[in-house]
Amino acid sequence: MWQAEVRVDLDAIRENVSRLRSGTTAELMAVVKGDGYGHGMLPAARAALDAGADWLGVCTLDEALTLRRAGITAPVLAWLLAPGLPLHEGVGAGVDLAAASLAQLDEMIEASRRAERPARLHLKIDTGLSRGGATVADWPALLDAAAKAQADGLVEVVGVWSHFVYADMPGHPTTDRQLAVFHEGLAMVEQAGLRPRWRHLANSAATLTRPDTHFDLVRPGLAIYGLSPVAGETYGLRPAMTARARVMLTKRVPAGTGVSYGHTYTTESDANLAVVPLGYADGVPRHASNSGPVQLGGVRRTISGRVCMDQFVLDCGDDPVADGDVATLFGSGADGEPTADDWAEAVGTINYEIVTRFGSTRVPRVYDGERSP
Ligand SMILES: *Cc1c(COP(=O)(O)O)cnc(C)c1O
Repeated sequence: MWQAEVRVDLDAIRENVSRLRSGTTAELMAVVKGDGYGHGMLPAARAALDAGADWLGVCTLDEALTLRRAGITAPVLAWLLAPGLPLHEGVGAGVDLAAASLAQLDEMIEASRRAERPARLHLKIDTGLSRGGATVADWPALLDAAAKAQADGLVEVVGVWSHFVYADMPGHPTTDRQLAVFHEGLAMVEQAGLRPRWRHLANSAATLTRPDTHFDLVRPGLAIYGLSPVAGETYGLRPAMTARARVMLTKRVPAGTGVSYGHTYTTESDANLAVVPLGYADGVPRHASNSGPVQLGGVRRTISGRVCMDQFVLDCGDDPVADGDVATLFGSGADGEPTADDWAEAVGTINYEIVTRFGSTRVPRVYDGERSP
């Protein structure tokens, strides 16, 4: 018998990837960083590849090597690489690397020497996010150095790319400005004599709303898990994750009973309380105290009082509740349960953070729709 679980519907991931695939003529990179946004990197990656994803995108070298060790041979790009990593292991495993500075390029050249094969590089230009990527001012020098290293047979520049600031707000003028900067950056790439096969820019939001940003490859993450990057739109995606737990204890208490640490909630009338064995150690944000929505007995309720490390309490009024009843925190919404979007709204964050939190805890992840590899 289970106590709490995060269920992941791999068929939903397959459907979402197919849907995204059918909306573009570009290749598709399924982004599986952050343990597949909490859904489990390897199962998510395999489901995405089943459904026609061409590439996998991750942040860390470790994530990329884990994919390779699991026998996944699809192209993989890793883009968050601090200095001093054993990049030659990535090069040796055929992992594509993102470079945004001369220092990074130098490390990748060194890694190519050690691996005795040229690193496949994706040069990143900062078109406005001011996070990863070379500034436009630094771009020509990076291109020249990369072109020289390529001419020397040390690296292969296969990609040029950037990342959006505001794609989740369709129509935001920053997106157009970034696209224009990207086009300028591409012209400089050409001037440097480089002809990378993959130009890529679009995250989920741009994949769904801006076909003019698809170029040769799109990089959706959130949408493959069935969540929408744009508030109020679903794009026909189906959320893959459900988080639920079985009530561990019920009791009847009188009106005026203080509930949980600090008594931030007091029962208004006599009430049935249900204790649910999930807390902030499991991914439930403590900010969900007195605000997190939970479906129990077919009714949507709100967490009563503080979320504890391992548990929280629901005031169920006079509704019958029993030990072992299933409390659903969020799911696809198909049965009236809250969604990750509802949770994000209740606690003041984004759906990305909700699913990522729940996936990386002690709660067992259970898969539906698994296929033998
Ligand atoms: C996370 C990430 C993505 C995917 O973003 P979504 O909004 O989840 O689609 C794409 N590109 C980069 C560089 C990222 O870091």
